[in-house]
Amino acid sequence: MHFAIVNNQRTPPSPNLSGTCPVCERDMIARCGSVRVHHWAHRGKRVCDNWWEPETEWHRNWKNHFAPDWQEVIGHDQHGEKHIADVRTPNGISIEFQYSHLRPEERAAREAFHPNLAWVVSGTRLTRDFPRFTKGKSEFFATRFQGVYSCYFPEEIFPKEWVSSSVPVFFDFREMDSTNPSDINRELLWCLLPGRLSPRPLCLLSTARTSSGGHRPIR
Ligand SMILES: [Zn+2]
Repeated sequence: MHFAIVNNQRTPPSPNLSGTCPVCERDMIARCGSVRVHHWAHRGKRVCDNWWEPETEWHRNWKNHFAPDWQEVIGHDQHGEKHIADVRTPNGISIEFQYSHLRPEERAAREAFHPNLAWVVSGTRLTRDFPRFTKGKSEFFATRFQGVYSCYFPEEIFPKEWVSSSVPVFFDFREMDSTNPSDINRELLWCLLPGRLSPRPLCLLSTARTSSGGHRPIR
């Protein structure tokens, strides 16, 4: 996690700092080594949110596009279950950033838990993902809505674990260690919209630009 409670304040990690977990209120220690991104960890191997995954630079960069107060917001359901949303905006939109593989049942559970969820996922986790998308993109056709496209076989174009998502999925095609970040084909965020136009398996897509302004928080 990027925030623990220190003197009643949400606080980022710094060397030798101790704090408490905002979810379970147990002790946390700041890990500020040189290998992983600086983070807070529970003492021992305890993890109180079983959906939480170790953060990469990719996660942290994405979260830092948003105001600190919007990051790592704890959500509750009616059964008392708690999970941390990577980002929750004041008007109730949740955003989860996912780089690693996620099992379909876990994806569905998170979609049911977080209100108004959108995913931002890596489009380059497997080496074939971006070439497949680039090739498949030629089959998109325009709809009557500007910037919205459709295609017949989304499972042949996008990483298949995301095709049946019930919420919007934004694909980030920039590479984790990109040496050419200005590649325009990778800078565009493509959003796969949920649902299909029946009777054919037509999907809808829309685009957005990734921010080119570094880590300026969005407010
Ligand atoms: Zn905890």
